Amino acid sequence: MRKLELHWRILIGMFLGVVFAFLMVKLEWGPKFVSDWIKPFGNIFINSLKLIAVPLILGSLIKGVSDLKDISKLSKMGGRTIGIYVLTTVMAVTIGLGVVNIIKPGSSISEETRNELVENYKGDADTKIAEAAKQRDAGPLKALEDLVPENIFQAASDNGNMLQVIFFAILFGVGLILIPEEQASPVKKFFDGFNEVILKLIDLIMLAAPFGVFALLAALVVESPSLDLFKALGWYALSVLIGLTLMICVYLLIVWIVTKTTPAFFLKAISPAQLLAFSTSSSAATLPVTMERVEEHLGVEEEVTSFVLPIGATINMDGTSLYQAVAAVFIAQAFGMDLSLSAQLGIIVTATLASIGSAAVPGAGMVMLVIVLAQAGIPEAGLALIFAVDRPLDMCRTVVNVTGDATVSMVVAKSVGKLGEPKVKDWDDNYKKG
Ligand code: ASP
Repeated sequence: MRKLELHWRILIGMFLGVVFAFLMVKLEWGPKFVSDWIKPFGNIFINSLKLIAVPLILGSLIKGVSDLKDISKLSKMGGRTIGIYVLTTVMAVTIGLGVVNIIKPGSSISEETRNELVENYKGDADTKIAEAAKQRDAGPLKALEDLVPENIFQAASDNGNMLQVIFFAILFGVGLILIPEEQASPVKKFFDGFNEVILKLIDLIMLAAPFGVFALLAALVVESPSLDLFKALGWYALSVLIGLTLMICVYLLIVWIVTKTTPAFFLKAISPAQLLAFSTSSSAATLPVTMERVEEHLGVEEEVTSFVLPIGATINMDGTSLYQAVAAVFIAQAFGMDLSLSAQLGIIVTATLASIGSAAVPGAGMVMLVIVLAQAGIPEAGLALIFAVDRPLDMCRTVVNVTGDATVSMVVAKSVGKLGEPKVKDWDDNYKKG
């Protein structure tokens, strides 16, 4: 097992987790055994990844920004990053709308199934709607206000406040650029060593990845609803999956055209991050591994990864925005509503904003979907329709979110001349470029 490459080890862990869970479900005492004795190991694995995320962002972003040596470079990179992020998100929503309008999954759902789903998942949907209400009631400048933490320790200890940690790290890095070199240099040296320690910790945590994903998937399978519901929502789930697959193809094409990196090379380099995104449903928990893979296996320099990836994990969610577009139109179709072109254009804007506002944790995209529904005048209660299959789709959209971040970091790195040779070679040299 040890000699196998990481993505194979993780895949085997995932596969065995699913098989194990099915066996357990067959035994009467199975599910309880899994939640008592297996699931906690999955949680420990996710926690250890999250544990590393805040020190990683702080250390590498401070170092990355201060290495730029010049504030105009920072604003140039910042502008490009945000611009490309918004562009890919709009692209994703448009693909989602295209697919859902062609397949029309909502029209194949019978009234009986619709009522059954609304009945079954009403409680769950109401919880999400209440969560969304809190976000919706905030004023227009609330997001900007929230960017600036009043206490960095509080920001670092609050899972939802990654943007505040990013803000502090950038500010600190700018401060380092502005002070004389002989004072800045020991601080930079400290962060150099600090970052090396964190990268080593990621390596250590990843040794446990196959076991971690085994536990996570086993727990998910024993807790998931019956397959019948999945069948009823099959066309909807298929529409989301087709959209997500198309988006991955778009990324591969972009990376190939802009950086001449072949799809096989790119996918092989980031597959462990994609598999973790799938198993954890959280871009935030996956971030340490995404950063390590993009830097070491794709050759993007730390100045870029440290800046582009943490911001991407927080605001760039192409998979989420695509799913929100498909889900909104699906619910409208299921309720027999005909959405006008202007309503659909409105969805492009709201789904883009809603995905930016979604936290990088499991199920967050669904909370923000409520806001998209409300804007388009689609009944919020329709959320209950898609609840049964949300988790598996969340796993898949998180893969796209993470792949999108990696893609944009390659493009930004290329555009600012910071794309070098990978430190770790997955292939022999001849095979790398297209
Ligand atoms: N789970 C997604 C992520 O972390 C967000 C979502 O769509 O729910 O990227």
